[in-house]
Amino acid sequence: MIYLKTNEEIELMRIANRMVGATLAEVAKHIAPGVSTLQLDKIAEEYIRDNGGIPLFKGYNGFPNAICTSVNENVVHGVPVAQPLKEGYIVSVDCGVKINGYCGDSAYTFEIGEVSPEIKQLLRTTKAALYEGISHAVEGKRVGDVSHAVQVYCESRGYSVVRELVGHGIGKDMHEAPEVPNYGKKGYGPLLKEGMCIAIEPMINLGSKNVRFEKDGWTVHTRDRKPSAHFEHTVAIRSGEADILSTFEWIEEVLQKK
Ligand code: MG
Ligand code: MG
Repeated sequence: MIYLKTNEEIELMRIANRMVGATLAEVAKHIAPGVSTLQLDKIAEEYIRDNGGIPLFKGYNGFPNAICTSVNENVVHGVPVAQPLKEGYIVSVDCGVKINGYCGDSAYTFEIGEVSPEIKQLLRTTKAALYEGISHAVEGKRVGDVSHAVQVYCESRGYSVVRELVGHGIGKDMHEAPEVPNYGKKGYGPLLKEGMCIAIEPMINLGSKNVRFEKDGWTVHTRDRKPSAHFEHTVAIRSGEADILSTFEWIEEVLQKK
């Protein structure tokens, strides 16, 4: 069942998603060599609660923290730890907030200090692939058009697309129908209709597409241990152009000042 949201509901979704963007910006301020992902988690949880939100991930299927922090070869769902981040690392920070009964979900992959040009390019490509997918997330197209756009953008540049984890519908629940894979066929899959809200989240690997699920029950890493990047926006389907409900604006303001 795919729920179509009213305009009022979409505005509530925007509030939740902008709070996610603000939380990620707060996290961005503190990202540096020597800081642990557990410290970043505390900052995120405090920020969300201080602003009247609920950290959506905390307790979700038993997940222990407010954010997922996936370092280097970890693709997604990384559990924050006390180990400090080091120069040259990357970390995907995925954050969810519920407020007024509606959910926001967005992720950004950050560089720790100076990273290699190869990794910089992986991040740039993954973020660009997200916007490429979003450009197809309009009324009348199908989920497969979004999926295909992300896949072609990344594979034509020599990167690989994770198959086991996908984007999703979002609303009152974090995960609603439909699934939004990052690979697929043009013209296939559920029809996109005005009022649908979906989270598009390319997970793109420098090496091969294969991943492994760790014994902690959460963390997913690349099999070849090469780095992986992850960017996510929640968008509302409209005719002509998608309405991006989450935002990287404040994150990138922080990063530019660094
Ligand atoms: Mg997410
Ligand atoms: Mg998501």
